Amino acid sequence: MKIPFNKPYMTGRELHYIAEAHARGQLAGDGEFTKRCHRWLEESTGCTKALLTHSCTAALEMAAILGNIGEGDEVIMPSYTFVSTANAFVLRGATPVFVDIREDTLNIDENLIEAAITPRTRAIVVVHYAGVACEMDTIMDIARHRDLLVIEDAAQAIMCTYKGRPLGSIGDIATLSFHETKNVIAGEGGALLINRPELVERAEIIREKGTNRSQFFRGQVDKYTWVDIGSSFLPSEMVAAFLWAQLEDAGSITEKRLKIWETYHQAFAGWEKAGDLRRPQAPTHCQHGAHMYYLLLKNLEDRTNLIHHLDESGINAVFHYVPLHSSPMGRRFDRTQTKLEITESYSERLVRLPLWVGLEAHQEGVINEVGAFLKKPSLY
Ligand SMILES: *Cc1c(COP(=O)(O)O)cnc(C)c1O
Repeated sequence: MKIPFNKPYMTGRELHYIAEAHARGQLAGDGEFTKRCHRWLEESTGCTKALLTHSCTAALEMAAILGNIGEGDEVIMPSYTFVSTANAFVLRGATPVFVDIREDTLNIDENLIEAAITPRTRAIVVVHYAGVACEMDTIMDIARHRDLLVIEDAAQAIMCTYKGRPLGSIGDIATLSFHETKNVIAGEGGALLINRPELVERAEIIREKGTNRSQFFRGQVDKYTWVDIGSSFLPSEMVAAFLWAQLEDAGSITEKRLKIWETYHQAFAGWEKAGDLRRPQAPTHCQHGAHMYYLLLKNLEDRTNLIHHLDESGINAVFHYVPLHSSPMGRRFDRTQTKLEITESYSERLVRLPLWVGLEAHQEGVINEVGAFLKKPSLY
């Protein structure tokens, strides 16, 4: 019996809605299902405007254009993140400035942001790692004082909150992912969430190849033409129909994942107490959505050995990001002033365990194998 790291969850209505979209005969984007998804995202997050995109990567690229990020600008972000967080801004000619992460949440350390700001800084991109919120009050304060844009990379943070406020609704702009490895999926998919009304019109234009097509269809302009830079960022109705089936169940998907997360968390409490490993930590004012469960081992060797041990038992556990500042592309920029000690240490010690709806039946096996590994006397 093999236990994969991820297994996409289907609600059972995906094909039904795709058939409905097919029957309607509108296959391009911005039809009935896209509208439903937009409304759902706006109501559940409280953002001003939601726009579906074909990925979170695409939404980040839109955010960079919308934020007028250009040549010579600097954008502050963690190094411990997915490449798209940085790539979207590099594509516009900007330089990512990497800041270290906090030991508890592995999120950008808000206390290190001020020191990284220069006259060229234009934006702060925060990543809510594992759906645990960054310290948004402090970050928004810094940004308001320095007139910087805040972009929330909320790829892992659907249905998560900070002090009761939905993630994606706090920064100026936010991005979501519906990639099949995330909690709510569409195969490939994403969304741009906008919280500043004055950015909405331009966002629609950028998403529609730089044209005013959306305004034209609403009857607000009488010609449909090229008015700005842009690209094709919108998904087809097939993707939106699939996503709609998932959004309808987003609450119950999150609940199911949280139960699995809690089972891991309780099972590993004893080993944490004994000093064998460290479990995820989240401030009480941050409600996560069980996007991932990870363990922090003592060092790289232990982490490598645990992944190997689990693999031999048919369990697929994985490490996570290679810090961007140490990647071949990241090293070219080298604008990071300080050593990113927590990033470097934690990225070597972190292992992600399988977490998917349906894992319940096999979870005890995963926990037992971690136990079998820890009990090896050579580790003590
Ligand atoms: C998954 C992920 C992305 C990219 O999402 P896509 O939809 O695959 O483009 C970006 N940032 C973070 C933090 C992610 O976890």
